[in-house]
Amino acid sequence: MFHPPRCPNRRCSQHRDPWPGFFRRNGFYRALCRPHPIPRFLCRTCGRGFSRQTFRMDYRDHRPSLNDQLFKMLASGVGLRQSSRILRLSLRCTELKFRKIARHLRRLNLNLRGPLPPWTSLQFDELEGYEGRRNTRPLSVPILIEKETRYLIWAEAAPIRPRGRMSKARRRAILEDERRYGPRKDLSARSVERTLRRGVDLVHRLGQVELFTDEKSTYPGAARRLFGEERLVHRCTNSKLARTTWNPLFPINLTEAMARDLMARLRRESWLVSKKRRYLDLGLALWASWRNYVRRRFNYDKESPAQMLGFLDRRMTENQLLSWRQDWGLRSLHPLTRTNESITSWVQGRIAAA
Ligand SMILES: [Zn+2]
Repeated sequence: MFHPPRCPNRRCSQHRDPWPGFFRRNGFYRALCRPHPIPRFLCRTCGRGFSRQTFRMDYRDHRPSLNDQLFKMLASGVGLRQSSRILRLSLRCTELKFRKIARHLRRLNLNLRGPLPPWTSLQFDELEGYEGRRNTRPLSVPILIEKETRYLIWAEAAPIRPRGRMSKARRRAILEDERRYGPRKDLSARSVERTLRRGVDLVHRLGQVELFTDEKSTYPGAARRLFGEERLVHRCTNSKLARTTWNPLFPINLTEAMARDLMARLRRESWLVSKKRRYLDLGLALWASWRNYVRRRFNYDKESPAQMLGFLDRRMTENQLLSWRQDWGLRSLHPLTRTNESITSWVQGRIAAA
């Protein structure tokens, strides 16, 4: 039997700190997209009505049954326009669905993770892309992964200034861009720090942290400051070294290659691109959750990266990832629960069972 975790009305006192019996059951309704009747509730404090559906990720969606298909396509190298053609949705609707799904998955990714086990080590690198226009608006995308399981901890895009060979036409284009948008900022240092901090959050209990990067001069200082000098073991690899399986940075190089292959907007020599970097961030969040929870680590493995790190006890399907809303931090309903277990109580239950 489903119990609503809280009152959805933000102005109600039962929204933040609900009492156990804050609601009253109020019958059912039938929805075309669900086989079973959906229970309705009333809040005893503010009197507002809501239903089980209010707590689903696809609450108020049109065509909710297409969400998991769209998720699969966007994580498999199909662009937004092509997905909209295949699913027979309008482009606008596809865009809005993508943003809603990706924002949900970003929260889910942050909610489901926990401290990393002691055998882990981290790998960090930046890849380059662009937003809108290749020769004037380049981006740097810092990526942090766990090396053994290939769990993608964080990736985000930051603007950098155009560099490299300057032709006359390119210079003119840059000036034109500056007149329109102002001088382009370089926010890559801030973004590198934010990405590494996501790793720091997961290793605070460990006595020693191993971090692999290339030899970029700003990394050692940032890494020492964030992870702490006494516990950091920083291994640098020259980026001129051949990118074979023997290269110590092979895991992150492979992750980057997969990201470029499976995220249409990062692919080289293609028409597809993010017009704004915040949508590239959303694309990265979407791909990260597919990589971490749906995919096996390698083709011969049975487990997903998140499973290997002990965050979950099984691989997830796209449908399971797109189940309960994740907008309440660790008190959100666990994606695998059918009743009312929050993420915290699910994790505690598993620890007790073990
Ligand atoms: Zn209420």
